[in-house]
Amino acid sequence: MAPIVRDKARLLEMVTPWKQSGEVVGVVPTMGALHDGHLSLVAAAKAVCDRVIVTIFVNPKQFNNPEDLANYPRTEESDARKLERFEVDAIWVPDGDQMYPKGFATTVSVSDLTDCLCGATRPGHFEGVATVVAKLFLQTQADRAFFGEKDYQQLQVVTRMAADLDIPIQVMGCPTIREEDGLAMSSRNLLLSDRARVYAPVLNEVMERIAEALRGGAIMSDVLPEALARLETAGFTGVDYLELRAADGLGLLESADVPSRLFAASWLAGVRLIDNIAV
Ligand code: AMP
Repeated sequence: MAPIVRDKARLLEMVTPWKQSGEVVGVVPTMGALHDGHLSLVAAAKAVCDRVIVTIFVNPKQFNNPEDLANYPRTEESDARKLERFEVDAIWVPDGDQMYPKGFATTVSVSDLTDCLCGATRPGHFEGVATVVAKLFLQTQADRAFFGEKDYQQLQVVTRMAADLDIPIQVMGCPTIREEDGLAMSSRNLLLSDRARVYAPVLNEVMERIAEALRGGAIMSDVLPEALARLETAGFTGVDYLELRAADGLGLLESADVPSRLFAASWLAGVRLIDNIAV
């Protein structure tokens, strides 16, 4: 079983000799409630790193809604069991005081990329993400970090942040892992009722249909009304966004004439689901 590390001094003690002997250290930051999406990042890290640290921290600073934070699934014991077969070198599970000791006063903020999508609908979210990820990068001294394309905007934001702050780490994006019915794996799927789980894949289904139309030359305003109606019929109660944006830089697009991705966030029975696909 990989050691569960709970304090910074112990983490430093473990990492220092790895760094001194020139081993390549990988980090996989997560908020736990691990599923096959997370585990695909761990496998990717194991394939190209000598040492792998998985971090589990439900970061209060990236939740703009206290109820969402309180309801977020916490399953540390089963997470550790799921990691066993990967033989990772450490599971870094800091508590709130380790991460944000009394007097903590610094925020890392990435502009432009965070103006849209989840940045616009979840105020403060990406400041929380950039702040904690900068700390995780520095605490683990990792050479490579592994993030999912499932959270594509987050992947762009942390890549920008590391480059801007000269943190010597290579950020690697890994493909989204899905359930058989197309639903993107997410810790939040655990919060779906049985009935909501039946309708949840409609989000990806609608997105695939839009993407196909865009590839055939359609424009967003042609295809949006039918897509929104389909989501409403399936029980989605609010769409935070359903937008086509440039894969690089996230500029808003009406048609897919540059490499682009379709992004969606929508609510189903009180659970916010997000997804994005390449067009
Ligand atoms: P989270 O625990 O939700 O903060 O996610 C931790 C990391 O796992 C992030 O880099 C996510 O993008 C990634 N991730 C979450 N779900 C998936 C998925 N279905 N496929 C691939 N990566 C994922």
